[in-house]
Amino acid sequence: MGLHTAYGLSRIINARGPYTPLGVSRSGDGVAAAVAGALSEFFVMDELQGAADRALARFSGAEAGTVVHCTASAITLAVAAAMTGESPERIAALPDTTGMPGTVVLPAGHAVNYGHPLVQAVRLAGAVPVTVGTDAGFTREDLERGLARPGVACLLLVSSRLVRGTGTDLAEAVAVAHRRGVPVVVDGAAQDFRIGELLGTGADLVAVSGQKYLGSPTAGLVVGRTGLVAAVRAQERGIGRGMKASKEAVIGVLAALEARQERDMAGWRQRQADKVADFVERTGALRGVTASSVPDPTGLPFERARLLLDPAAAGMGAVALEEALRAGSPSIWALPGRHGTEELLFELVPLAPEEIDAVIVRLAELLPG
Ligand SMILES: *Cc1c(COP(=O)(O)O)cnc(C)c1O
Repeated sequence: MGLHTAYGLSRIINARGPYTPLGVSRSGDGVAAAVAGALSEFFVMDELQGAADRALARFSGAEAGTVVHCTASAITLAVAAAMTGESPERIAALPDTTGMPGTVVLPAGHAVNYGHPLVQAVRLAGAVPVTVGTDAGFTREDLERGLARPGVACLLLVSSRLVRGTGTDLAEAVAVAHRRGVPVVVDGAAQDFRIGELLGTGADLVAVSGQKYLGSPTAGLVVGRTGLVAAVRAQERGIGRGMKASKEAVIGVLAALEARQERDMAGWRQRQADKVADFVERTGALRGVTASSVPDPTGLPFERARLLLDPAAAGMGAVALEEALRAGSPSIWALPGRHGTEELLFELVPLAPEEIDAVIVRLAELLPG
């Protein structure tokens, strides 16, 4: 009996991408076997973390890396690291930041909400977030003004589909902060494919989620400068106690990094492109639908399928179609398009051929020709 039957749980087809409320991602067989093996073993956790730290540095090209519970905790711990360094007294004092630099500057459009407000992850360390610019964007001058305040611990930037507005590019923002001696933390949660590029901006710490495209159990991977990474790890004896990585998560990260390194990326990209092209061809024949493939807005190495609805011909708009797909069984979760448009997006990366077939059958039922 499967888990869904055993516990009376809804069956899902997740075409939304690595979406946390749906269990994020699917781990491959190698990761699943490694995690299962870890659960019944003891390890010297420092040794295990050490192995993961070295693997992360090799994988990313950064000086150092470490694993914490998730990216939300990585943000809190990176901010803590920027305030305390490796000082045991400061680490023990948090979230009381008396006598430490306690301001975290971030562009207003980067103050995203990934299930809770990112600024709350900052405040959890005891820091005070200060936004610069507006939701429409920020300029270099906005950044300069924000960073000129006294007691700035770090600049926090986000690389995500959730970011709003336009702004100085990340590398330029990093350079502005560095000229003032301020370290930069980048939240790149779903950007594990682009981890090298994010480090290439000059950022001091980059955090990505292990459980998004990498397919490990829930884990926050922090890579960057040796001293700051050590200061992140050191928070384990402070506010990071409740944010530590489990043995099975660390083993799962090791297995997931190996699987990624062994992956034939060109072949993988081709398979993703073929899946999307086939989906576009088959859904383009539905009434009132114009189907196309669109690049990932953050530059990830795969496309998504985009259905643009003509509500008069289709008999419903994108919002109604999204709800109808979700209301069925299995429940199909597509990604709502830009606000005020009639578009619906489908990310097919983790889906098996029979799941894609099921999506198309359901679409054909809802949009009869
Ligand atoms: C998913 C996400 C997070 C949180 O990641 P977790 O690993 O689930 O804590 C943070 N920031 C952004 C931009 C995200 O997309």
